[in-house]
Amino acid sequence: MICHTDFADTETGLAELWKLIKTGQIVFGGNAVLKTYGTLRCQSGRRMHRKNRVFFSSEDEAVASGFRPCGHCLRAKYRLWKEGGAGYPRGVAAKTASASMSDNVTTN
Ligand SMILES: [Zn+2]
Repeated sequence: MICHTDFADTETGLAELWKLIKTGQIVFGGNAVLKTYGTLRCQSGRRMHRKNRVFFSSEDEAVASGFRPCGHCLRAKYRLWKEGGAGYPRGVAAKTASASMSDNVTTN
């Protein structure tokens, strides 16, 4: 995980950031407060504060860091995550409670 604040807020910092994007070391953006990740073109991603913005080289890295797919630009994956689908663990608490919670899913 790379933080946007790791880069200087200057032309040089921006150039370094672009270099990582161009070389595929940054593929997804994320919000460290909301714990969400999405595409670099996502409108939600563009609106967030610089200090909250993080970057990932892959979805695996984002998921492993406890981030969930953006409901805007990664709608299908977001739905998978919401349903607790394969590859999108909803955290340790949700995982251990999932057996007893499954009976109550319809109430949501
Ligand atoms: Zn998004």
